[in-house]
Amino acid sequence: MTGGTLFTDVRTICADNPATLSASTDVLVLGDRIAEIGASARGQATPDCFVFEGHGRHLLVPGLINAHFHSSTNHMKGALPSMPLEVFMLYESPADRSPVPSPRAAYVRTMLACIDMLRLGTTSVQDDAFFVPFPADEAIDAVMQAYADCGIRATVALDQPTLPESSKLPYLDEFPPALRPVLDTPAPVGEDQLLDTYQRMASRWHGADRGRLQIGMSVSAPQRVSLGYFHALDDLSRKLDVPLFVHVLETKAQRTLMTEQPRFAGESLVAYIDNNGLLTDRTNVIHAVWIDDGDLARIAATGSVVIHNPMSNLRLGSGIAPYRRMRNAGIPVALGLDEAICGDSNSMWEVIRTAGLIHNITGEDYSSWPSAEEILQSLWGSGARAMRRAGELGRLEVGCLADLAVLDLNSRAFTPLNSVCGQLVYCETGASVEMTMVAGRKVFERGRLTLVDEAGLLEEARERFSAGRDRGQPHEEPEADTVAAYRRIVSRAARADVGMNRWVGHL
Ligand SMILES: [Zn+2]
Repeated sequence: MTGGTLFTDVRTICADNPATLSASTDVLVLGDRIAEIGASARGQATPDCFVFEGHGRHLLVPGLINAHFHSSTNHMKGALPSMPLEVFMLYESPADRSPVPSPRAAYVRTMLACIDMLRLGTTSVQDDAFFVPFPADEAIDAVMQAYADCGIRATVALDQPTLPESSKLPYLDEFPPALRPVLDTPAPVGEDQLLDTYQRMASRWHGADRGRLQIGMSVSAPQRVSLGYFHALDDLSRKLDVPLFVHVLETKAQRTLMTEQPRFAGESLVAYIDNNGLLTDRTNVIHAVWIDDGDLARIAATGSVVIHNPMSNLRLGSGIAPYRRMRNAGIPVALGLDEAICGDSNSMWEVIRTAGLIHNITGEDYSSWPSAEEILQSLWGSGARAMRRAGELGRLEVGCLADLAVLDLNSRAFTPLNSVCGQLVYCETGASVEMTMVAGRKVFERGRLTLVDEAGLLEEARERFSAGRDRGQPHEEPEADTVAAYRRIVSRAARADVGMNRWVGHL
């Protein structure tokens, strides 16, 4: 084998015990894998190997894993004020029938986040892509092409609700009669057509570039699709051995669906999924803020992974997910950005810092607060498990995929070096990242992306997405009486007794 990369005199950390910083060592990458670690690495390097000299001051870590993301709003960071999810979505995904994004708009907006992620050492992303009003093949291909071109590892699913709005909300009596017909408007695309789209997407993209690109399955949320469609996607996910994304109990209003939507028959959405055999070790349970101990037991028993998105939960006021209870139940908890429109950055460093801090205000017993080590285990170990790549991603071991980030330990974040773990979680912003590698290929090095024209793409994004131009997304303001009705629903749900509280503090 020719080529490859030899990292000399680098420090490393172990994914299972990230608090332990190794002495200087050598790491050899051949092809898309880590071929050797330690004294024998130099001897196995080929003469044409690229050599990165660490001089004992560089830290080699597994690339960061963004386990939940929606690329669709990458061009809308900071665009909306903070609002509860149900109201927020009126602005984010209006129910009008505006044209689908042009393929080029879908490509450029996908690339915007890829630029951020690769610069900051994120090497894997799970994109639950949605398209307003529906996913056209050309737009899907454009998203996949962006991931193909920039070099990041991506699992991409289609987050498309198939039921009318009236199936997804509690307290429908809050809507004045004049608005009710809108709630019953069918989804813009049927389930059969979506399944055909998945099949086409799988045949074209699944496993591309030696498995760097994969497709996943997404039902968006249990209240947003039929059981038949959920089963069909679960079958596909089993067949392809890929994750199934499902947003579950993100908000308190969603918790009230168990009693306010007859089809859930008084059971929580987790129980509903589980009772239908749809909670498995392939299921990514996204958010899980308003879950109770019974839900936790079901998730733990089935081996599902929870994806925690603390910045999104803060931005939308969703509440604080019970991280400690999840961990105590033995549930793997991975971490995600959710989306730029409600996270406003594409930095997993901000996610891990937020995850490392937010749970400290849930009580005074500091033994229950997350440790920096736990947060890094969530980032890497649980992230890899969410992607169904445990054992080969998120680890720095011989045979694992060479998805890596190189950090400068002489940077301000690590000066002086007190605790590598603590400084990774609480101090690092991404400014220390000197190189990002995915599948053995350098994708960011010496301050520049190696595979894409970053300046050109940013210039195009400014031109394309400036106000009034091709936003690739409808942006009409919702009607005031519609917003008022949704506000009443959220407010009524907030007053309901659901047997738990996930909000803290007082006005
Ligand atoms: Zn999401």
